[in-house]
Amino acid sequence: MTIRFKMMIRVRFAPSPTGGLHIGGVRTALYNYLFAKKHGGKFILRIEDTDQKRKVEGAEEYIMQSLDWCGITPDESPAKGGDFGPYRQSERLDLYQQYAQQLIGAGLAYYAFDSPEELDAMRTKLQEAKAANQQYSFFNRLEMKNALTLTKEEVEERLNSGVPYVIRIKLEGGKTVMVNDVVRGKVEVNTNTMDDKILMKSDGFPTYHLANIVDDHLMKITHVIRGEEWLPSAPLHIVLYQYLGWETPKFAHLPLLLKPEGNGKLSKRDADKHGFPIFPLNYTDAKTGNVAEGFKEKGYLPKAMVNFLALLGWNPGTEQEIFSLEELSRVFELERISKAGAKFDIQKANWLNEHYLRATPAKELAAYIIKRAQESGYDCSNNKALAIVGLLIERSTFIQDLWNNAQYFFVSPTEYDNKTVKKKWKPETVDALNLFVTYIKVLQNPTAELFKQQLEKTVNELELGFGKVMPGLRLALTGQSGGPDLMEILVVLGVEESTKRIEAAIKTIEL
Ligand code: GLU
Repeated sequence: MTIRFKMMIRVRFAPSPTGGLHIGGVRTALYNYLFAKKHGGKFILRIEDTDQKRKVEGAEEYIMQSLDWCGITPDESPAKGGDFGPYRQSERLDLYQQYAQQLIGAGLAYYAFDSPEELDAMRTKLQEAKAANQQYSFFNRLEMKNALTLTKEEVEERLNSGVPYVIRIKLEGGKTVMVNDVVRGKVEVNTNTMDDKILMKSDGFPTYHLANIVDDHLMKITHVIRGEEWLPSAPLHIVLYQYLGWETPKFAHLPLLLKPEGNGKLSKRDADKHGFPIFPLNYTDAKTGNVAEGFKEKGYLPKAMVNFLALLGWNPGTEQEIFSLEELSRVFELERISKAGAKFDIQKANWLNEHYLRATPAKELAAYIIKRAQESGYDCSNNKALAIVGLLIERSTFIQDLWNNAQYFFVSPTEYDNKTVKKKWKPETVDALNLFVTYIKVLQNPTAELFKQQLEKTVNELELGFGKVMPGLRLALTGQSGGPDLMEILVVLGVEESTKRIEAAIKTIEL
């Protein structure tokens, strides 16, 4: 009898803490998370901070807070720990050294001592010669200053004297490397087009390539799911796996996020142009102090964000568009990721936000209104807040809209919509409003229905149409030309306040 062990799926999100986490990064994290959950695997957060020059203070915390906001919780991370830590590359330097040395020992990597000037001269020479491969490679490395051209003693002497050096991979020329990508299929690359990439830098830190491979192996990563911009690095990574004698994980390179217009990669500039954020949370640029508004602060709900990002490059194969994180964790499959770039359609995000805003319990939304009202120095009962939510929810995309559109429930209008005044404020409007006031003044806590009856009585008595009275009444109560049900607004404002407003409007608006 053969016992087959099910492979434990382990995936990672491996951002570099070099600034604000772009929304595309959140999508990468989400897809990794969903894939792990779908297969009962583990989702790991690894911080790739080997580029000390580009490291930004606070960026790691920002990444963790962003994931946390979306509910994309890592099973292992620098904060949480785990059996495969440390999860910050700067704390694993010895490991990279060890594997770099192993490669050197096996003749698969070499020390190189070329100065910046020598490297510049090399590039110029290759450019002038219009060489097919214009990089440090199989073709020209024997003309350079490295362990392949210097004697053993010269190398030793340089290493001992503290001359800066790097360690480069030694690629064989003329070999085909095949990347078998779950999304893109098979991609073949000839090593003649590749270069002897640096694995260890002169500052003793590994480059992304070496550290990434060592960690993916040691952390037992089974699937590498990352942005398409890393596809060109995949052949080198595959060679590294071969050189180290390790099994290659499966690769899935995610399609680019495209501008809303659909052509070209989505950039911060596009986001600014269209007035939507590019970062999940507010992000303060450490250098300039400029704050870029985040999706959260703009009013997007995490559920809407997750739903939106899930559909940016993946589809369920059905017409269904509304998905919770739990549901996505059940249905997500790498096979349904599309090759084509995903257009960043912010209208879709807004639509989803409206959906989730409406699905939020009314008492939570009411609590928000009460809080905002208190901050502005207004009293707001729970009933009033609930009524406002009921009236404004269908007209709101963001939770802030609930408050911004509710101003007239707290302050009498000081201005009246000019166009409506001109078109709809007539002597008969004033007559009707005066009469309406006399009818409602005597009522005790009337319902919307009762208010409506008074209005009917008014228009019948003066032999006017509703159209002659309603716009003026709305103007008097709210200052605006449109809005939710007028009778309900009367109920929220109450008889006393409504009367006051109607009388004030009659006094203020010139006929
Ligand atoms: N550190 C890389 C980044 O910042 C990770 C790429 C990968 O997932 O291999 O995106």
